[in-house]
Amino acid sequence: MTRTIEDLIPDYLRGLPVYLPGKPIEEVERELNIHAVKLASNENPLGPSPKAIEAARAALGESHRYPDGGTHRLRQTLAARHGVTPEEMVVGLGSSEIIDLAARVLLRAGLQGLTSEGSYAPFSIVIRASGAELVRVAQRNFAFDLQAMAKAITPKTGVIYLANPNNPTGTAFTGKEFGEFLDAVPDGVLVVLDEAYVHYAASMQRHESLEAYRKRKNLLILRTFSKVYGLAGMRIGYAIGRPELVSAMNKLRTPFNTSGVAQAAALAALDDKEHVKRCIETNGAERRRLSEGLAKLGLRPVPSETNFVFLPVGPDTKALCEELLHLGVIVRPLGWMGFPEAIRVSVGTAEENDKCLAAMAQVLSKRAGKSELAAR
Ligand code: PLP
Repeated sequence: MTRTIEDLIPDYLRGLPVYLPGKPIEEVERELNIHAVKLASNENPLGPSPKAIEAARAALGESHRYPDGGTHRLRQTLAARHGVTPEEMVVGLGSSEIIDLAARVLLRAGLQGLTSEGSYAPFSIVIRASGAELVRVAQRNFAFDLQAMAKAITPKTGVIYLANPNNPTGTAFTGKEFGEFLDAVPDGVLVVLDEAYVHYAASMQRHESLEAYRKRKNLLILRTFSKVYGLAGMRIGYAIGRPELVSAMNKLRTPFNTSGVAQAAALAALDDKEHVKRCIETNGAERRRLSEGLAKLGLRPVPSETNFVFLPVGPDTKALCEELLHLGVIVRPLGWMGFPEAIRVSVGTAEENDKCLAAMAQVLSKRAGKSELAAR
C-alpha cells in the first residue's frame, strides 16, 4: 500500500476547525458595490499613532537587512516598563504566535490543555494541534467560571488558557478572583493569561497581573500591539514569562519572526502615551453610546470591558449579519465560537457606530413589520 501525503496529516489536525477571520472590507465593497464599515475584528478605529507611522516609514528604508531577530531594543524597553528583565520578555508575530508557542513547547499527546467554552478560538485550536486533549469548562453569565476551571485541573493538565478581558464576551474577572484561581493551580501547570484588551477594561488594574507574576513561577502574561496601539496589521505582540520558558519559546519560533518595520512601529507606539490615552477615552465613550443605542433598540448587550460588544440577538444570527452586511455594516456572527444566538460588534468611530445603529434599527423594524404581518 502506498502512503499519500494526506496520510501523514495526524487525525487531530484533520478534525481541527479553521479559524474564520472577519470579512475584509474590500471584499464586501467589491461584492456588494457599497461603502462598508468593518466592525468585525476588534481593531482600533483611530489607527496607529502618527509617531508609529513615521518610525515604520523610516525603518522601511532598512528592509534589505534582516531585522534584529532578538528584538533587543523592544525587549529592553518593555522589560523596563513592566519591571522585569529582558530575559523574561518574548516578542511574537502577534500574541497569536505566543499562544501557539506555549502549546508547542509544553503540550503533547497524553497531556491536557484547559480553557473555557466561549473564549478565544485559537486557544482550543493550539491545544488540539499540539496533540494534547482539549478540556473546556462551561461559562457562567458569559464569563469564565474560574472555580469550575480550578476543579477541572487534573495531573495531566499542562497549560491553562485564559483571556482577561475575554473575547468574544467582553467580560473580565477581578485581580482577587484571579489570585484565588492561581492559588488552586499546581506549580507544574502554566497559566497563559491573555490580556489583549486590558487597556480598555475600566474595572481592571493593569499592574495586578504583574504583581501575581512576581509571586508565581507558572504565569505567562500576553499583551499585543494590535489593539490599543492600533498596529494589528504589523503583527507584533509580546509575553512576560520565566526565562526558562521564554528561552524554549525562542528556540522554537522562526528566527526573524517580527519585521524591523513592526519593531520600530511598536517602539514608537509605546512612546506615544497621548495617543493611547485618546484611544482608551474614545473607546470608552463610544462603547457606552453604542451599547446604549443597541439597548434602546430592545437588545441586551453584555456590559463590555473591551473594544467590542457581545450582543445576544436570537436564533437567526446569520440572516441578521447578512442583512447588516447589505446595509454596509460588517459584524461577526459567533456561532463558530459557541454562541449561535449572538453577534460581536467592534466599537468603531462615532460615524461608524452611527451607521451600525441605523442599520440595526432598519433590520429590526423590517423584522418587526414582517412578524406583525404574519400574526394577522
Ligand atoms: N488574544 C485575544 C483574546 C484576541 O482577541 C486577539 C485578537 O483578536 C488576539 C489575542 C490576537 O492578537 P494578535 O493580533 O496580537 O495576534
